[in-house]
Amino acid sequence: MKRLPVLLAFLWLACILVGCRPIVAPLDDAAPAFLPGEAGVGDPVFPLLGNSGYDVLHYTLDLNVDVQRNVISGSATILAEATQPLSAFNLDLLGMTVETVTVNEAPTIFVRDGQELTITLTEPLEARAPFTTVVVYGGAPEALADPELDFISQGWNWRDETVFVVSEPAGAMTWYPVNNHPTDKATYTLRITVDEPHVVAANGVLVEEIDHGDQRTYIWEMAQPMASYLTTVAIGDFVRVETQAAENVLIRHYFPTNEVEQLSRVFANTGEMIAFYSDLIGEYPFDEYGVVVMPFALGFALETQTLSVFGPEMTTEGVNAHELAHQWFGNAVTLARWDQTWLNEGFATYLQRLWLEHKLGREFLDKGMRQYYTMLAGASAPPPGIVQEDSLFSISVYERGAWVLHALRLKIGDELFWEFLRTYYARFKDGVVTTDDFIATANEVSGQDLTEFLNAWLYDVEMPPIPE
Ligand SMILES: [Zn+2]
Repeated sequence: MKRLPVLLAFLWLACILVGCRPIVAPLDDAAPAFLPGEAGVGDPVFPLLGNSGYDVLHYTLDLNVDVQRNVISGSATILAEATQPLSAFNLDLLGMTVETVTVNEAPTIFVRDGQELTITLTEPLEARAPFTTVVVYGGAPEALADPELDFISQGWNWRDETVFVVSEPAGAMTWYPVNNHPTDKATYTLRITVDEPHVVAANGVLVEEIDHGDQRTYIWEMAQPMASYLTTVAIGDFVRVETQAAENVLIRHYFPTNEVEQLSRVFANTGEMIAFYSDLIGEYPFDEYGVVVMPFALGFALETQTLSVFGPEMTTEGVNAHELAHQWFGNAVTLARWDQTWLNEGFATYLQRLWLEHKLGREFLDKGMRQYYTMLAGASAPPPGIVQEDSLFSISVYERGAWVLHALRLKIGDELFWEFLRTYYARFKDGVVTTDDFIATANEVSGQDLTEFLNAWLYDVEMPPIPE
């Protein structure tokens, strides 16, 4: 038994005598005001991408895909946590027809306007309250055509009875409702049902296949956080090829049926590359890796998490190293804002060169970097530090971006540079970074103030001189 303390007994008596209103009223005044989340996270390039007011923890996409007609139907179940007292919130979704939306099993009112799906909560949510949203939807997804980025049709693509998803930077919202910005990473379950004999490849680990006779469900789990632009699904006539695992990482590639032998040779050293990068940077961040090669040309490859998408014309050792290196820098450590793409591409480009250095020697690397330096300086390649939408994937972002890292290495020496790479990776793994984080880490590891030096490489119109 616990006794009521004397002071509480006194207050209780006072309450009876004078009433408790004065004590209760201030608490009422302090009650949180429930507000709607914003329709964007304020990205400098794409202000409407992402939404504020909540943080997604896990997406479960349960979709039936009619590959003959390119029609999908099903549901997205989104487990999230409110980050403020919340009365309404947005998801990003472009096209498709939304049938119903429920939050914590209660039907809600929703409104659509362009890429914004606004959901008004029947019961407002306290800050930090977890909640589950189920969006039942369907339709024929269409890739996003962005005239500023015309080399990639973003999102869900359908060609010759083959589906592939390549969403950098904004395309994820073409096929599921999403908080579509890298600052809100989440884990995923992808349950995709197709007619036999189509094969479904997606991010993460294939945990189950369910045979329904004419149809088959493939269940893929992405157990580590993933930015929405890195989600992928490939559906078609693919053969799964497992190769020797490296560092406890299962390697599984998906190749077009008639290209298996040739492509198996091209990607044969993927395990060796995983071991090399793991030694250099830190353990490979995910459980599996592989590539899916399309049966038609794409003009690019993309580092979709754990399963990079390749056009057949991109299947070279150098591009394989580049997309693999992105699994560390780009995927596990991701840009926080789209005007700093050099944080993804400069790193992957330089790490691709480091694989060549590993095989061909330091002299080969230095010579190659100097050739790029001359080429970039001659072409007056603009600084890579802050870019506009039409320059997200410019040569400067890749090659001047790679030179930021090479210049840092020349300035502080190999030993400190490797320590910098490992520290920066370990510190920001599973999260997002800005250029300020990069500079702060370089300063800290080197014990020098390199801000001015790095700013010159990032922001000066002219390339700085090569450090001695
Ligand atoms: Zn890249």
